[in-house]
Amino acid sequence: MNPTSVTLETLRQRTRAFINDEVIPREDASLAHDFVAQNRVIHALRQQAREAGVIGPGIPRELGGLGLSFRDRAVILEESGRSVLGPHALQAGPPDETNILMLDRLCTGTQRTRYLEPLAAGSATSCFAMTEPPPGAGSDPAMLQTRAVRRNGKWVIDGRKWFISGALGADFAIVMAQTESGPTMFIVDTDTPGYRTVRVIDALDGFISSHCELSFESCTVGDDAVLGQVGDGFAHAQLRLEPARLTHCMRFIGAARRALEIAERYVSGRESFGKPLGQHQNVQTLIADSHIDLYASRTMTFDVATRMDAGVSVKHESSMAKVFVSEAVGRVVDRAVQMTGAFGISGDSMLSVLYREVRPFRIFDGASEVHRSAIAQRVLKQYAQSPASSSGVFNIAKP
Ligand SMILES: Cc1cc2nc3c(=O)[nH]c(=O)nc-3n(C[C@H](O)[C@H](O)[C@H](O)COP(=O)(O)OP(=O)(O)OC[C@H]3O[C@@H](n4cnc5c(N)ncnc54)[C@H](O)[C@@H]3O)c2cc1C
Repeated sequence: MNPTSVTLETLRQRTRAFINDEVIPREDASLAHDFVAQNRVIHALRQQAREAGVIGPGIPRELGGLGLSFRDRAVILEESGRSVLGPHALQAGPPDETNILMLDRLCTGTQRTRYLEPLAAGSATSCFAMTEPPPGAGSDPAMLQTRAVRRNGKWVIDGRKWFISGALGADFAIVMAQTESGPTMFIVDTDTPGYRTVRVIDALDGFISSHCELSFESCTVGDDAVLGQVGDGFAHAQLRLEPARLTHCMRFIGAARRALEIAERYVSGRESFGKPLGQHQNVQTLIADSHIDLYASRTMTFDVATRMDAGVSVKHESSMAKVFVSEAVGRVVDRAVQMTGAFGISGDSMLSVLYREVRPFRIFDGASEVHRSAIAQRVLKQYAQSPASSSGVFNIAKP
């Protein structure tokens, strides 16, 4: 725990109370995809969160947040994730939270004042624009098509991005573009001529943060828009990718837990064949397997968080945690829907919303298949220098 005046457990209890008493009651199906209405609610909740002392768990203390370690953040973000409004109410939601971390490491003094400080204060919002429609960058970032070329001492950006979360209403975008010297990140104000929000993409998820398609047509910015070093865009992006992956795990564990809580309450009250649903052994299996999934998810997340706090490389472990947690939370929410029957797929509870929100986690921040491939390749690399014929694999003693 950081040198704040409260213990982690006190902060957890405060956050839980805030989510239960203030945030969950504001969940309303009519808020879904309604950017204006959401903004109004989120701003009001943030004010309350500030007063309750729970705002900005991951924002550095010098920027007005609680500056929690990753390990402590795991506990608080899980609580926030119990509501679809929770992470944003606490200013702990994507993409701003991880953009803050990256900007804090890379910003010049001027960029700090102009972008980072308003973002951390909650008076500005941002998005991170990397993915492109085919044939551009998706799972393979090397397929980057968006170009930034030098013209008259400026950078001229042309290209297309899609599935850019939080782009609707964002004040600035962090845009990955290819330059002669390699991939480079640019901070682009969204009112820059040539920057255009083409559409909000109709998606399975996105109750609170919709995804947009963006176009850049001769969108011209100065050298002061370069974030970090020209040509180092992919290396810089790593600063946000691992924290983003991990904080998504934290929040989605909370979402899955909420779904399970709803289901547990349901099976304790509803009856079939003369007894509460929860007394049927097959239902008990669904509950037990879900708790096992959550326990394993939490344990992996805590371990990666502890390593990150220690400054140890977590490339391998964060991949494994991301794959496991994204699939485990899907299983948990799916079982919760199953246990609640028709009610679970209706709009009468948040279950159907949670079901839709967790599904894309197996795709963004690296699809499961891509991570599995990277995990196996890293493992197999050590054998590349020693072919099986010379390593004793085939020297099995004959009977
Ligand atoms: C909800 C959501 C929010 C997002 N937010 C953002 C955002 O804010 N900013 C941003 O830049 N992007 C964002 N994205 C995009 C996300 O980063 C991409 O969806 C992701 O990188 C995968 O790229 P793709 O969708 O083009 O899939 P593709 O590259 O077309 O891959 C499709 C599928 O092919 C399989 N596949 C691909 N490569 C391999 C491989 N090597 N081995 C085996 N199988 C493989 C996987 O099953 C994969 O799901 C978001 C996506 C979603 C769903």
